[in-house]
Amino acid sequence: MLIPCPHCGTRPVEEFTFLGDAAPTRPTTNDPSSMEAWYEYVYLRNNPRGRIDEYAHHSGGCRSWLVVQRNTETHEVYGAVTARDFASRKEAKA
Ligand SMILES: [Zn+2]
Repeated sequence: MLIPCPHCGTRPVEEFTFLGDAAPTRPTTNDPSSMEAWYEYVYLRNNPRGRIDEYAHHSGGCRSWLVVQRNTETHEVYGAVTARDFASRKEAKA
């Protein structure tokens, strides 16, 4: 599997460390009333089949955090953006 890093170009998957689904939204507060939201964010994750956005760290390259769009069934990679650009686009949609 090849990953198109926006900084380094197309690189082998072995250079990346994957963190998981980028769809859940991180709670914005540490207030005690948000503990249920934190629990859900940290522990209750889906295991989606098909196209997902997934966090990846280019640990064997530029060390940037990316979001890779890939298919969990076929492992086809559609593209990758920096995590910063992904967060900006997510905020713009909200
Ligand atoms: Zn890179």
